[in-house]
Order: sequence, then C-alpha cells, then structure tokens
Amino acid sequence: MDFTLSEEQRMLLDTIRMMGEREKFRELAKHVDATGEFPYQLLKKYAELGLLGMTVSPEYGGGGQPALNAILVIEELAKYSPMIAAPVFESCVGPVRVVDLFGTEEQKKRIIPGVCSGDLSVSVCMTEPEAGSDLTSLTTNAVEEGDHYILNGRKTFITGGGHASHYMVYTRFGNIKGYKGVGGLLVEKGMPGFTFGKQEQFMGLHGMPSCDLIFDDVKVPKENLVIKPGDFNKLMWTFDIERCGNAAMCLGVAGGAIAEAKAYAMERQAFGRPICEFQAIQFMMVDMTTRLDAARLLVYRAANNAGQGLPSMYEASMGKAFANEMVVDVTNMAMQIFGGYGYSSEFPMERMYRDAKAWGVAGGTIQMLKIGIASMIFGRRFDQRKG
Ligand SMILES: Cc1cc2nc3c(=O)[nH]c(=O)nc-3n(C[C@H](O)[C@H](O)[C@H](O)COP(=O)(O)OP(=O)(O)OC[C@H]3O[C@@H](n4cnc5c(N)ncnc54)[C@H](O)[C@@H]3O)c2cc1C
Repeated sequence: MDFTLSEEQRMLLDTIRMMGEREKFRELAKHVDATGEFPYQLLKKYAELGLLGMTVSPEYGGGGQPALNAILVIEELAKYSPMIAAPVFESCVGPVRVVDLFGTEEQKKRIIPGVCSGDLSVSVCMTEPEAGSDLTSLTTNAVEEGDHYILNGRKTFITGGGHASHYMVYTRFGNIKGYKGVGGLLVEKGMPGFTFGKQEQFMGLHGMPSCDLIFDDVKVPKENLVIKPGDFNKLMWTFDIERCGNAAMCLGVAGGAIAEAKAYAMERQAFGRPICEFQAIQFMMVDMTTRLDAARLLVYRAANNAGQGLPSMYEASMGKAFANEMVVDVTNMAMQIFGGYGYSSEFPMERMYRDAKAWGVAGGTIQMLKIGIASMIFGRRFDQRKG
C-alpha cells in the first residue's frame, strides 16, 4: 500500500498554498464570516487554474482527474474556510457529477462547460420540510403533460439556493410510491413558477447561500429529465462522492484549527513558559493530530479507490461519519488551547468550531450514515419504519 502523494499532487497542493498566501485567504475567510458575502470573485480565479470541474469529463471542459485530487484541493482550501473551498466542492463532487455520469449528451453540453468556467452551478435538492433523513417520503411531484412535466413542491436547506443557475431536484413522478417513484429533474433558475424562500441564518458557514425552493406548477421540459423514476440508486451512488467532499471539508477545517492551535501554543506564555511546554496542551495536540490523520486515511481510501469513478458506499459513509465527529472534537480542543481568546471573534477558532458543526447533518446525518454502515456490516437491511 502506497501512502505517498504523487509529484503532481504535491505540486497541486503547493500551488494552492501559494495562492492562499498571495490572495490573503486567511483574511478573506474572516471577512466572509463577518459579512456573510460569498467570495464569488474566486470562481474565475479557480477556473483559470483548472480547479473547477477537475473530476468531470475532459470532452466537456472538465479535468478528468481522479477524485482524490479534488479531495486534496478541497481539504487544502477548507483549511482557510469551507466557503473558500465551496466552488471546488460544487463543481467536482456536487450534482454536476450526476449530469456527467448519467445525463444526455445535450445536458452535458448545456451544463458542464459552464460549470467548469465558473458561469453555471448546480445545487442538489433533496431535503423537504417533512422529508430529511426519511428522504424517500418526499412529496415534491412531477406530473407528465405532453412534452414537459408539471412540478409542484418545496425543498428546504438548499445550498446555493437563489445563486445556482441549475437545480438537481429529487422528485416523485406521478403516484409511484417509495424510492421507486423518485428521479432527478433539472430545474433552471428563472423558470416561471420557481421561486426562492428567505436566506437561512445558520450558526456557521456564513456566506453560504441557502434557502427554500418553491415549485408552483413549474413547466419543466422533458429534456431536463436526468434520472428517471426507478433509477433512484444512481442519484445515491453519485451522492457518495459528495460525501467524500463533505469529509474533505472536515479534514480541512480540522487541519486549519490544528495549525492555528500549534502556532498559538508556541507563542502564548503562562507561568513564564510557552503553553506548548505543558503536557496537557501537548496531549490535546497529539489527540487532535492523531484523529485528523485517522480521518484522512479513511477519506483518502474512499477517494483513492473511487479512481475517476465513484467511491464505495461503505468507505464513503465511514470516512464521512468519522470525519464529521472528528472535526467537532478537534475544533473544540483547539478552542480550549486558545483559552479566552478561542471564544473571541478576533481569533479564528470560534468560527472554525461553528463551521465544523454543519457537516454531520449536511450530506446525511452521522446517525443515518451509521445505520447504512451497520446494514453493510450485518449484510441485511434494517427497515427504519418498523417499530
Ligand atoms: C449546512 C447544511 C447544508 C445543507 N445542504 C443541503 C443541500 O444542499 N441540499 C439538500 O437537499 N439538503 C441540504 N441540507 C439538509 C440536510 O441534508 C438535512 O438537514 C439532513 O438530511 C437531515 O434532515 P432533517 O434536518 O430533516 O433532520 P431529520 O431527518 O428530522 O432528523 C432529526 C434527527 O433525527 C435523527 N434520525 C432521523 N431518523 C433516524 C433514524 N431512523 N434512526 C436514528 N436517528 C434518526 C437524525 O440523525 C437527526 O439527528 C443541508 C443541511 C445543512 C445543515
């Protein structure tokens, strides 16, 4: 087993680090958190560097690179802030991958080049007010009518809501019950009857556009059908790569927190000595670093084994669930190392802690992932609807 990064991957990370210094990403992260303004100016910069759509098909403008490269980039950028990594996340592990893998030729040509140039983006739209973890109970409905579908329903907590140009809407088709009735329909911003709710006010991830989507008799052309009912599994398989991206955000936030805590511990004095000389601080740093490394091994395994395709559900779920718990523990300890200053918004620790908390809910809760992993361990499904 080879645990070393290739020369190409090391150079990629060096490029990202130099950009981070040059573009003052630490200061930008603080600004985004304080103002709630998404750093849209990064899109063109990232596109020029080939960071958008790194993993999608080269014939449509993508980079055709292995999943691991995108995971490494997301992690490196998320050390500053998940908002700084968000464009790479959306374009490399987001629902554009569904279009790339399963869309029609026309859909690929229509969407992928724009995503790679930073002009278009696609949001994933699963959650509804009454269907989160219990996704297959969703009630958004598409009814066939001539050459189009009539879409009605409401989605909630949609990242990119109001900002994205395209929405991969998980919808029920007609009256088909359960997961067999669910497919994926592309809805475009501006379609008559498609409106947005108010911007969510989250504890962390300030700057991330997120809102409800409201579909009121939206006429969606049949050419926008990406995943037909009956192929729900294709949506979920592709979502496993997004889960690796979610876990990479956790690796980045934890890595950023550890770097800050290390620098602080070497500088801050107490009892006439730098606090890094106290064993209590050392042990926290060891625990934080060990847990991050363990999470890295799980997440890199999932991404590496995915190659240029999709990861296994087992590996992606395990990597995400572990990284989701790890990042909350690590940022919590890093805050402790900062003492009172950890709690002050003058320093980045409290922001990192707030940002850490989101990932164990977004992309499927830690509990739901563990239910899936248990099912794979026991080799049988546990129906959550039974008592
Ligand atoms: C920052 C952020 C970004 C998001 N982005 C998106 C997005 O872009 N697109 C999108 O579609 N959604 C998005 N979501 C929504 C997210 O996917 C849902 O919040 C998540 O799936 C959980 O659904 P819920 O909030 O309805 O919680 P519920 O499903 O109501 O769960 C509540 C609690 O009950 C637990 N629970 C539920 N069922 C079981 C069970 N059978 N066994 C054990 N425990 C159970 C859950 O783990 C959780 O702890 C985002 C959420 C957040 C916070």
